[in-house]
Amino acid sequence: MDFDHTLFDTDRFFWVDLKAAFGRFGVSDDAWEKSYETIWPSGYSLAKHAEELGRLGAIASASVASAMHATLERTFSDLRPYLFPDVVEFLNAARHRALDLILLSFGDPAWQSYKVQASGLIPYFAQIIYTPHEKGKAGMLVTLAPAYSELRAIDNNPADLDAMKASTPWLQTYLICRVEPSVSEGDRFREAARYLTIPSRLPHRQCRSLNEVFLP
Ligand SMILES: [Mg+2]
Repeated sequence: MDFDHTLFDTDRFFWVDLKAAFGRFGVSDDAWEKSYETIWPSGYSLAKHAEELGRLGAIASASVASAMHATLERTFSDLRPYLFPDVVEFLNAARHRALDLILLSFGDPAWQSYKVQASGLIPYFAQIIYTPHEKGKAGMLVTLAPAYSELRAIDNNPADLDAMKASTPWLQTYLICRVEPSVSEGDRFREAARYLTIPSRLPHRQCRSLNEVFLP
């Protein structure tokens, strides 16, 4: 299973609520985005983001920066409200069937691990694998797949599903779309909406909810 935009509403957390929380410390959307663009290639963290905002002069003083960082860590220590509403029920149903759940997540391992841990998901997974490499998931899957006679992948990124299916042809793939067509403006589905423009090379089952994923 994928994490961002599949289990976790990353856009609502990051581009709406987290950005607004910085805004309450006087950080403009512009400065926030500019500093984000600078730091994310080396791996995102709140500390780095705050530091870069300080360098840009977007935060009044070092004491405001440290107050902001402490407030953000406190405010976003429990991320369970950002799980999509079908997630916990689905994971419990899978666990009840004694299925092995594997989380395969792309992104900075420390940042991904914070989100997964704060969403309370760790106990559900037999394995949790973070890859900082784009297209890294297919490589991870190749080493995992031989242990299973039946395997399903659920992801919102058609490119990852294509790569995984190409390397493991018997994999059953589900392309999940969490973007509500009525709310596609602004930052609400900023990143998730971009995945809708990526074409699939291989066929995948399409779904909008985890309830549509078959559990054996
Ligand atoms: Mg994703």
